[in-house]
Amino acid sequence: MEKIRIRILGSGKEVGRAAIAIERNERFIQLDYGVSFDERDIPQFPLTIPPSKIDGIIISHPHLDHIGATPLLYISSTPMAYTTSITKDIGRIMLEDFFKISSYYLPFEFREIENFLLHTRTIGFDSDLDLGSWKMILKRSGHLPGSVMTYLDDGSTRILYTGDVNTIETRLTSPADLSNIDADILIIEGTYGDTDHPDRNEVEDDLLRSVREVLEDGGTVLIPSFSLGRSQEIMMLFAERASDIEIWYDGMIRSITDVMINYPKYINKIDLLKKAVEKFNAVDSWEIRRKIWREPCVIIASAGMLKGGPALYYLKRIADKKNSAVFLVSYQGKNTPGRMLLEKGVFVENGPKVSSRVEWFDFSSHAGVSGLMSIIKSLKSLHKIIIVHTDPDVGEEFRRRIVEETGIEVALPSVGDVIDL
Ligand SMILES: [Zn+2]
Ligand SMILES: [Zn+2]
Repeated sequence: MEKIRIRILGSGKEVGRAAIAIERNERFIQLDYGVSFDERDIPQFPLTIPPSKIDGIIISHPHLDHIGATPLLYISSTPMAYTTSITKDIGRIMLEDFFKISSYYLPFEFREIENFLLHTRTIGFDSDLDLGSWKMILKRSGHLPGSVMTYLDDGSTRILYTGDVNTIETRLTSPADLSNIDADILIIEGTYGDTDHPDRNEVEDDLLRSVREVLEDGGTVLIPSFSLGRSQEIMMLFAERASDIEIWYDGMIRSITDVMINYPKYINKIDLLKKAVEKFNAVDSWEIRRKIWREPCVIIASAGMLKGGPALYYLKRIADKKNSAVFLVSYQGKNTPGRMLLEKGVFVENGPKVSSRVEWFDFSSHAGVSGLMSIIKSLKSLHKIIIVHTDPDVGEEFRRRIVEETGIEVALPSVGDVIDL
């Protein structure tokens, strides 16, 4: 058997830009091909391999840090990509929006997006497919509706790549499914390799209580939220537990929610999502946008880190209102207005102080360290673990813990590293 190599093209000691290639005999299986953004919001791409040598690209889910760079692989060639149907449809929306916002910095054109989608074959959870010398199975990863872990088996080596993974059930998706698989090699995300999230029910109680306080005080609640995943989760939470409240949603949330409604089999509690769409109001004109924040209500709007979009528009309107609130429910990356708002109370450097109430609620769609450890412990034949998609300090802590609890060999590679199996 030819030697297998794992090439870390992105996501080595960084959260984002997921891109890992499995190489054998100069043929590649590409796992995700995403981007990250620098402090000036300019997209950063992964390292490259020759696209003509790719036997298959597997997209775990349509967040840009996993799908954003895929069109690059379609400039000179047309490798086949594989993912679930819902990921392909939402991926189109995400890539087209990315192109609209960042096209000046993109080394590809619109037709490469089209070409990628044209060569994307959709498959469901648990069905298998031959890719070069590998048999591939996609398993539910529990991070988003239709998000997958990739399982590769060549008869002697079994590799599992988690992508972004969650081990708790949410209204939006069932948890990661590790049934009927074992693996020798595990490539695992380590976003929260050093922490556990607080109990989800308590976080929900806190948010709903805080929202009611603000509304009773005559204020408006802005919930900046990622348009993919988090927004729908928050809408479903309100639909189940507080459907009497007046809710508006604005931004790309609408088109993504529409796609989700079309794929009921991937949504854990589809009835709640349908109820949310029926009961709550979409903002579909400037006339409405200019009006709603003046009255007590909840506005769920993208972008989740306040980097732009309608959330920023509403924030500027309510920032000086003491009885209003900004409740952040998404991860706030470094150098983002959201992080600045939490840490300094402003959303632009040296900008005006925000007088409205600001709080952050932990609604993560990534497993905490206990969940990650449970994945590791459920795979009985592991002899090597590779941690990706993690901050360096967090990854180091995660590595220490895995070695201490299991004794399994762990690599924490950097971008550009090559791991020989
Ligand atoms: Zn990710
Ligand atoms: Zn993700």
